[in-house]
Amino acid sequence: MSAPMKKSLVMKFGGTSVANLDRIRNVAQHVKREVEAGYDVAVVVSAMSGKTNELVAWCKDASALYDMREYDAVVASGEQVTSGLLAIALQNIGIKARSWQGWQIPILTDDAHGSARILELDGSRLMDSFSTRGEVAVIAGFQGIHEATGRLTTLGRGGSDTSAVAIAAGIGAERCDIYTDVDGVYTTDPRIVPKAKRLEKVAFEEMLEMASMGAKVLQVRSVELAMTHRVPTYVRSSFDDPADPKPGTLICGEEDIVEQQIITGIAYSKDEAQITLRRVADKPGIAAAIFVPLADANINVDMIIQVVSDDTTTTDITFTVPTADFERAKTILEGLRSTIGYATLQGANDVVKVSAIGVGMRSHAGVAARAFKSLADKGINIRAITTSEIKFSVLIDSAYTELAVRTLHSLYGLDQA
Ligand code: ADP
Ligand code: ASP
Ligand code: MG
Repeated sequence: MSAPMKKSLVMKFGGTSVANLDRIRNVAQHVKREVEAGYDVAVVVSAMSGKTNELVAWCKDASALYDMREYDAVVASGEQVTSGLLAIALQNIGIKARSWQGWQIPILTDDAHGSARILELDGSRLMDSFSTRGEVAVIAGFQGIHEATGRLTTLGRGGSDTSAVAIAAGIGAERCDIYTDVDGVYTTDPRIVPKAKRLEKVAFEEMLEMASMGAKVLQVRSVELAMTHRVPTYVRSSFDDPADPKPGTLICGEEDIVEQQIITGIAYSKDEAQITLRRVADKPGIAAAIFVPLADANINVDMIIQVVSDDTTTTDITFTVPTADFERAKTILEGLRSTIGYATLQGANDVVKVSAIGVGMRSHAGVAARAFKSLADKGINIRAITTSEIKFSVLIDSAYTELAVRTLHSLYGLDQA
């Protein structure tokens, strides 16, 4: 008869938490605590802070038009280093451990190099190593393998969060603990609003919107996975005393949250650029003439505003695209100028999207309207607005980012007393 299965746990440590050997030794103490509490532990590590940026810069320096498969080979290396070092640090304090690369597990992805998606993760090799060798698995985050080509892939910036949640789902872990440099998820980025409050719990749906709208504390795909696989996920601090850690913030089902606020959090994203086409012919098919070519070029259009003009023959259309696609989008549209038939194209990169998120918006009217008034009172001009069931976003000049985030944070009663 085989021994009863032990409970398992995933612990993920971000860049600042493994920034140097002292921090890695500190991580080893956190892991030791959980091993001694009786868990089979899979640890997922990021590269040392700053490392991935350096590797990305090297690729760009090597060639302006670099091969994304080689980019992945380069940038995946940061995590290889920290996984080996943490395994050594654990062995050094008497904990059995070994490192794992993405391909050894294996974590199978598609071939979208640079932002690959996990297709399949079979946790059986990891579970075998728990039961037969009692080893802590120290896994290099951020990386996987594309099976058909055998090439290394990476999961997009911040992707170690996604590795961690995927592994938690793959081994049926009791929970996934994301250790970082803040002690939980806050009502907004605590680095720009010191009055931000730590949240005890956040619903999956809200966390998904917060992450999608720019709160980089968790990668968007990690939240999607946690939500579909119902993995209880905590965001907590690696800077806590390993002997006396705090639980952090639990990301969980809405039904597990008793006291629900109307607005849970405010997020902002500078990753958006605005394009306005002036005096576009106001006739059927024009929206398609603009947006189909952009979609074909894989450019995601987010906010769209079409103004009804006085003369009824022409109109202005404003929309946003990711900053990274701004130049490409402009070039495509300039090429289509005679087909679309617009007078001028204007672009702005110095804009920011500020969003307020909360499931309470479903049952309350006028939540967004209050924001428009408060922002106007502060002299902040709104360039575009979008709303959905549990969030609304405004596009404003980036110079007003902090003022707008703070204004909305106070307006919805989120400031710490
Ligand atoms: P790691 O390297 O551990 O993955 P990240 O830098 O990716 O850490 O994410 C943690 C950072 O996310 C924090 O330092 C904080 O500045 C930022 N952040 C943005 N929005 C929030 C929020 N709502 N709550 C907590 N942190 C946030
Ligand atoms: N090291 C990678 C990055 O900086 C992945 C991660 O930290 O999650 O994006
Ligand atoms: Mg991160």
